[in-house]
Amino acid sequence: MAASSDLAVSKRAEGPAQADLDKCVHCGLCLNACPTYRELGVEMDSPRGRIYQMNQVANGAEITESYVQHLELCLACRGCETACPSGVPYGRMIEAARAQIENQRKRSWWKQSLRKLAFDKVLPSRTALQVLGTGLYVYQASGLQRVMRATGVLKLMGNLSNIEALSPAAEIPFFYSKIGKTFAPVGKRRYRVGFLAGCIANVAFARLNEATVRVLQKNGCEVVIPAAQGCCGALHLHSGLRNEAQALARKNIDAMLTEDFDAIITNAAGCGSTLKEYDELLADDPDYCAKAREFRARMKDVTEFLASIELNRDMGVVDVIATYQDSCHLAHGQKIKNAPRQLLKAVPGLVFREMPMADLCCGSAGIYNLVQNDMAMRILQQKMEFAGSTKASLIVTANPGCMLQLAAGAKVFGSGQQIAHVVEVLDEAYRNYAAARVG
Ligand code: SF4
Ligand code: SF4
Repeated sequence: MAASSDLAVSKRAEGPAQADLDKCVHCGLCLNACPTYRELGVEMDSPRGRIYQMNQVANGAEITESYVQHLELCLACRGCETACPSGVPYGRMIEAARAQIENQRKRSWWKQSLRKLAFDKVLPSRTALQVLGTGLYVYQASGLQRVMRATGVLKLMGNLSNIEALSPAAEIPFFYSKIGKTFAPVGKRRYRVGFLAGCIANVAFARLNEATVRVLQKNGCEVVIPAAQGCCGALHLHSGLRNEAQALARKNIDAMLTEDFDAIITNAAGCGSTLKEYDELLADDPDYCAKAREFRARMKDVTEFLASIELNRDMGVVDVIATYQDSCHLAHGQKIKNAPRQLLKAVPGLVFREMPMADLCCGSAGIYNLVQNDMAMRILQQKMEFAGSTKASLIVTANPGCMLQLAAGAKVFGSGQQIAHVVEVLDEAYRNYAAARVG
């Protein structure tokens, strides 16, 4: 058993391991959990069909354009992994298959340059993200964004209006000023935690990061935000850039293991899923494999951490009907479904209504909604219908990427719900409690 799992990990750079591929018994029980199969009804765009194609490549078939397209249309949401009774580890198989494609693929010069710029120069660089964030802020605050939207210029450019609707708001001041600082607990110190603030989140989710720190403080945490941290590498890994993801993983491990934290916290389920797989990512690195296991043992999603401790119940009323959209990388990647619901149900005044198929992907999936915008919008439309059936005015989720996608859905399809992260709802409850006491 141990030997076959080692084999599965060691062969990943060359494509999915045969031991993993052989676990699929072709039963089809995953089909209804697959958003692309539900939309298209095409076997080759189902988990079973994709595994069949990976198997063919593993046994000598050529990597064709059609193979690449069927794999690129996959959201890597891992809904199939949860549905599969045979334990097929689809998440690591699609990552390995994409890494194999990436190794063999020739892209045009400009596409290759654009990718290099985004993955090598922008995501890992605080300076580049601050420059881009400032540009985005000027575009939004100057009124140019309003003009572009009102005149319909973007609609003339095909999908650009959908993609533009997905662009985050740049939140000034950015969260960078908090990096390197320590925040004292409110009341007696119960825990000392390290917080990973993300990469784009420092620009586009600065208020969410601040709310996360406040909620942790309210729960007796001393919150340390180590200066040497950086991008987690999730987007690199999902795009087949394994070496780059490994380099970023080493950097974060070095940044976070300098102190003996009770937990290392993220508020981004997509990042958390990759952060919790650093041990697999660095399994073949003799200098980092043990450190990666130690890092993984402390890594917690913020909802997972808060649901595991005695929660501070000094909350005021949040008078709202809310539903919850599972973030795939929390529900399927980290197998955490109860914690966010438990936290929401603890908020006084909040009426919780479950939506149908809450754990079906919303179409966000990292940069999927940008590069596969047509399919992402089809999937989103159905998600908004499911959310709308609850009559909730607030859709809560646990990942910044999902928040953007759902906010675009509420706008593009006109349903108008508010979107929030679980910790933002808790933060409001704590602030309402404080306000009621002052009042
Ligand atoms: S990861 Fe998601 S989109 Fe891809 S095959 Fe599985 S269920 Fe379908
Ligand atoms: S991935 Fe799992 S559920 Fe899907 S066909 Fe294979 S064995 Fe069946």
